[in-house]
Amino acid sequence: MASGSEADVSPPAHSRDTFSHRRSAWDRSSVKMTPLVAVVSSPHARLFTCFFKLGAQQASPLQLHTGTSLAAKNYHEVLVLGGGSGGITMASRMKKRVGAENVAIIEPSEGSLPLLGACVHFYQPIWTLVGAGAKQLSSSGRPTASVIPSGVEWIKDRVAELNPDKNCIRTDTGKEISYKYLIIALGIQLDYGKIKGLPEGFSQPKIGSNYSVGTVEKTWKALQDFKEGNAIFTFPNTPVKCAGAPQKIMYLSEDYFRKTGKRSKANIIFNTSLGSIFGVKKYADALMEIIQERNLTVNYKQNLIEVRADKQEAVFENMDKPGETQVISYEMLHVTPPMSAPDVLKKSPVVDDAGWVDVDKETLQHKKYSNVFGIGDCTNLPTSKTAAAVAAQSGILDRTISLIMKNEAPMKKYDGYTSCPLVTSYNRVILAEFDYNLQPVETFPFDQSKQRLSMYLMKADMMPFLYWNMMLKGYWGGPAFLRKLFHLGMS
Ligand SMILES: Cc1cc2nc3c(=O)[nH]c(=O)nc-3n(C[C@H](O)[C@H](O)[C@H](O)COP(=O)(O)OP(=O)(O)OC[C@H]3O[C@@H](n4cnc5c(N)ncnc54)[C@H](O)[C@@H]3O)c2cc1C
Repeated sequence: MASGSEADVSPPAHSRDTFSHRRSAWDRSSVKMTPLVAVVSSPHARLFTCFFKLGAQQASPLQLHTGTSLAAKNYHEVLVLGGGSGGITMASRMKKRVGAENVAIIEPSEGSLPLLGACVHFYQPIWTLVGAGAKQLSSSGRPTASVIPSGVEWIKDRVAELNPDKNCIRTDTGKEISYKYLIIALGIQLDYGKIKGLPEGFSQPKIGSNYSVGTVEKTWKALQDFKEGNAIFTFPNTPVKCAGAPQKIMYLSEDYFRKTGKRSKANIIFNTSLGSIFGVKKYADALMEIIQERNLTVNYKQNLIEVRADKQEAVFENMDKPGETQVISYEMLHVTPPMSAPDVLKKSPVVDDAGWVDVDKETLQHKKYSNVFGIGDCTNLPTSKTAAAVAAQSGILDRTISLIMKNEAPMKKYDGYTSCPLVTSYNRVILAEFDYNLQPVETFPFDQSKQRLSMYLMKADMMPFLYWNMMLKGYWGGPAFLRKLFHLGMS
């Protein structure tokens, strides 16, 4: 794995506002990484991994798109804002509808990785395993150019202003670009700066965060350096992407401490702003059993407000008693930052009061502007913000837009499907799948609230394969058809 000294790791665009201007010592500090992959790979796991790596190797990096060489236009039939999971997926689908020459994506692509260089697209879900040393950071990225559908124009810029009344947007560099249809896929913003002492606190050891490309390897370093004391994991008082990720790293850390003989010296604490461990009862019950069996401490309604990284202290506010704070010293701290809608959206006319793109929850069409659509983390769809949700949304949105283009009413309805592979150890996952009503909608014909090796292999190897080879290419709209097949057409 690349060491921190070799790594010129910039934070991704969605963390730019609070982060990227302050690249500091932790970017360059010497971080010795020993991947845990070898420790956790059983022969079966290796065979499975090998199969999927083979598939992955045949995929994108060499298929560089040619669109950037096309003369830049300032009008596009379909304009996509953001080239993350939702943006690339929708651009691929729209290319099939209207032709590559009529689609453009605006994406600054500020992330970088050694070997891949600047402009990297990341598969963020794998960062959970990178933070635990079970995957390498380099495996989470591909050059952005390789994922932009060929022929689609990539406008390498940031959206600075939306003007839906005039069907145009303005970029950071002052370009005005107009459109017939607009798809907004700008993701969610990481607000590390809302915690006193961050992001500069990341320059100190013992602290990491799986949520950013610049800090995920620091989690693994903190885990390896752990000697004895409190290992604290946090959950903020805002919406987050992948609400399971803040606790997945806790289970992995506990497993790591057991494997390395440090478990008896670790006091493992999950301090969450929420009032329960998970929103869906079936999975919450299963997680509470694990928490009790493995002697983990969960404190509810505790919000991280300050990190004193030089003293290794974290300050939490009791959300039921504002102003009442508690200082806890740590030997390891994993921070899940507060998050919000991207600033550019907050000040635009397309959002609701909380700043999220205001779309119909069944069709994903904007409630006011009929030629504007939203997908993914930046929307106010009342479901858990995940890439799995984006996949399901992409199939619905594709159908919605195709009907709108023919002046027909949208028909397909999104049920809020989302999924969260709750990694509970280096070889077990509970695969949570549920809808708007927080009811389980499980794909497989077995009880998915049980921890399983098969589901771990899905998370670690099969899902990245699906992401790079099918979803981003517009061929994966979620597992609904598999669910029907496995349940003999009954659900
Ligand atoms: C640690 C972690 C674990 C996760 N685990 C899982 C998991 O197990 N399963 C799962 O399904 N999901 C998981 N997710 C969540 C998943 O990665 C996101 O929900 C998904 O990427 C959302 O896609 P999106 O297109 O909405 O946003 P993103 O993929 O974040 O894309 C947003 C894009 O918008 C661009 N952008 C931002 N501002 C501007 C601007 N002003 N102009 C132009 N472009 C801009 C950004 O550069 C970015 O490329 C995890 C995420 C993290 C961080």
